[in-house]
Amino acid sequence: MIRFATATTTCAALLALALVGCDTGSREERPTTTATTNPGATASPAPSGGTSSTTPVTSSGAAPASSSTPAAVPSANSLISVFQFDPTITRAANLWHIDFDGLGDVFHRNCVGHGLGVASEPPDAPINRLTRERVIAACMRRINTAYFRTPEGNSQGPQQSLDISFQAITPDPATYPDGPGRDYSRICLGSRENSCTGGTLGVETVDPGNRRAERACVLNQLGTFAGRICGQNSTLGRRAGGPLTLADLKFVDGTYALGNGTAQEDQRFQAIRAVIQDWGTSLGNVVAHEVGHSVGLNHVADGIMIATTNARDLSDVNLPFTQPSIDVLARNIGVTAQ
Ligand SMILES: [Zn+2]
Repeated sequence: MIRFATATTTCAALLALALVGCDTGSREERPTTTATTNPGATASPAPSGGTSSTTPVTSSGAAPASSSTPAAVPSANSLISVFQFDPTITRAANLWHIDFDGLGDVFHRNCVGHGLGVASEPPDAPINRLTRERVIAACMRRINTAYFRTPEGNSQGPQQSLDISFQAITPDPATYPDGPGRDYSRICLGSRENSCTGGTLGVETVDPGNRRAERACVLNQLGTFAGRICGQNSTLGRRAGGPLTLADLKFVDGTYALGNGTAQEDQRFQAIRAVIQDWGTSLGNVVAHEVGHSVGLNHVADGIMIATTNARDLSDVNLPFTQPSIDVLARNIGVTAQ
């Protein structure tokens, strides 16, 4: 869970809201340790090409002496200190579908709430679709770089990136027939509210050791609560000329370039781009935080995994994981071989 710092506000009512968010989100820190909750536990095929996979053993069986010390919870260490096949662990958990459509048109309405959508037009009208795609692109760039990948999502080379990949497009059912929770993980974006008044920004279950592929997509209960997420400049408001209108299509469809029009048009173009960039980045930082929980991270005092954040950090395209968090990520999801 990540909350928005209310210390920067002056409204007592907002503080109360944040406290509610804190209470409801506290269950998130309860580790889920039951391997049988993994829906893929009995269905996972043995890895192809490996002869050792013909005799699968669970993490509790055939353990060498070095791991004889019983662990209350499956920690990252227990998973890497023993080289054995565990059918409950699948690299599929390292493919993530960042799902902007999993809650119907909720994310579209969050876009409208942030001034980045035209409510009178259908969600798939060009003005709405193109703007949404740009927000999603900014969000994906931030998630990728947070996990040491290129902005486009590629590995930066051997040992240079975390072995995890993110895509906004639904993974192809032909390749991933068992869907989210089995063949890949999923996190949804969207919330009922469109407000910058604090409270919980996202909730995911802490998954020590990254044993499970995630799938939950429950409005305002699990995922990333997009409408509430506000960096320093995440809403296209009155100061920028008001929310998006149909007349702004040229600013998001790629036909307008700086200097093409009047100074006022240039200003509007830059204002729209700035808000798209800022909100997308802020969404990406919260997704990076929540995915962090789902691959085994707990809160730390600084960086992406801080428990209570603020607008400046949300807007930070370089907000990092702390080194202890990076160490856990490297153990739980691995680093790139190439
Ligand atoms: Zn958190």
